[in-house]
Amino acid sequence: MPGTKISQRMRALQLARDCAALGARIRTIHHLTGLRPRELLHLLFNSHAIPPCGRAPNSREWYHHANLLQRIEASIVIANFRRMRHLGFPAPEALVGAYRYYQSMYRPPARISFDRAFDLAAHTEGLWIAKAPSFRLASCSRCSSEFLDAFAGADTTARPCPFCQLLDRHARDPRLTASFPEPPPASEELIAHLMTVPGPVTDANGETPSNSSSLPPAET
Ligand SMILES: [Zn+2]
Repeated sequence: MPGTKISQRMRALQLARDCAALGARIRTIHHLTGLRPRELLHLLFNSHAIPPCGRAPNSREWYHHANLLQRIEASIVIANFRRMRHLGFPAPEALVGAYRYYQSMYRPPARISFDRAFDLAAHTEGLWIAKAPSFRLASCSRCSSEFLDAFAGADTTARPCPFCQLLDRHARDPRLTASFPEPPPASEELIAHLMTVPGPVTDANGETPSNSSSLPPAET
């Protein structure tokens, strides 16, 4: 019964539950599902499960202060989100699938929260809360990686490729050296990881397979 009211309702409820499980704010779930905030509060939370509160992420401000590892992880989330979009997934399912894949690659705590991923995806595609894109996926001419970049006018990149920066800084930065006892994997290998996007799923979850991390978490 695809397209019927009950199917639409069930899809929205399933999506809401998936988003809440990933730590989404009510505001984020509301934008992704169309369900009213009051109903979401009633359905998803109780005195033992309190919704996340505080100021919602503002990625256009955050991006300019984000450190190298945050920019790498943001790039991975958005590159996977865009790939799932190109495969035909609706934006909410693509976001959930891309975020689950990101979580499967890194040990917690995640540097990129689900709310951050939502904000970045919105401002990359001009969706939900964003009227127009203010980020894009840029292609590095040196390592061919795709990375998140702010629009800087013309075809220029606002900031250098974080994957190349990681390789360049690995030997010089004690924090990175401590995080990566071995030299970090080549950017091409990281991108090959990203290419392992699951085929179209049979349900609406965008479920993705677990994968061991080739880029372990590092304290910054
Ligand atoms: Zn590069």
